[in-house]
Amino acid sequence: MPQDDSSLRADISRRQFLRWGAGIAAGSLLGGVPVTSAHSGDREQSSTTPKARVIRRVQTSARKVCLTYDDLWSEFYSLKIGREYRKRGIALTLFPIGYAVQNNLRRPHAGYENLYPRLRDMGHEFGCHLHTHRDITGFSVQQLIDEELEPALQVMRQALGPGYRPVGIRPPYGIVTDELRELSNRYEMPLILWGLDSRDAICARACADQCEGEDRTIPEVYSHLYGPETPETLCSNANCAAHCVDAIMSNYETYLRTGTIALNHMIRSSFEAIPRLHSLLRAWNLQPILLSELLSYGSA
Ligand SMILES: [Zn+2]
Repeated sequence: MPQDDSSLRADISRRQFLRWGAGIAAGSLLGGVPVTSAHSGDREQSSTTPKARVIRRVQTSARKVCLTYDDLWSEFYSLKIGREYRKRGIALTLFPIGYAVQNNLRRPHAGYENLYPRLRDMGHEFGCHLHTHRDITGFSVQQLIDEELEPALQVMRQALGPGYRPVGIRPPYGIVTDELRELSNRYEMPLILWGLDSRDAICARACADQCEGEDRTIPEVYSHLYGPETPETLCSNANCAAHCVDAIMSNYETYLRTGTIALNHMIRSSFEAIPRLHSLLRAWNLQPILLSELLSYGSA
């Protein structure tokens, strides 16, 4: 059947996207996707596609950026990273999975009670990373509302107060569908992707393959109760983390610029990268601010 160029491109793009989504979903619950795949899936939209705001970077000459951290499965690293930035006077935008918030509400580890209000009191803010971290391809708008957005919003309000409104929605794996755009419009919450992927989780996963027999699991720092799927355990080997810090920094050095929204996860290598990342930000005179603030600095 003949197709015009744009629908053919859209079709190819969608197929690529399904493949990436499926591969990543099977491989990891913690990883992001390469920047290019997030971009290509979104660029091709038909005239009937709902016009949601999809934000990857803020176009600005102001020397401002935003550091975002996703998932928050690990209470240990979420608190550790949140505190480390607080000490350095830097505020983060955090995208927890609803299940991670729920786990912390119902059964926090000793010392990690009220994790979310504590992170907020340090000056950090929250977006919504949906509830279960599934690949949402094929989900209807109603399914997205019932199974993903409303449950996540509900636990966020329980943790942070009934008036809490997340800064935006970050879809797992960066997968944007027409149904998600519709949801974004209905709830008046922008879709927040990223222009820089530190690839911290991707590196940790690859490195974990090399540490057979070593400490691959760190159960004491993860939530007791998982969602429908258990998050992958990542290698906590020190050599692995050191190697991944180099990889993270190389991504920042290549892609960091004004208005960048950077994707990271709450894992060991990202914690260990903080001193070098902070030095780089200072050397380049780029100030990390909350996403809600960055959005006021120009067009997204
Ligand atoms: Zn995620």
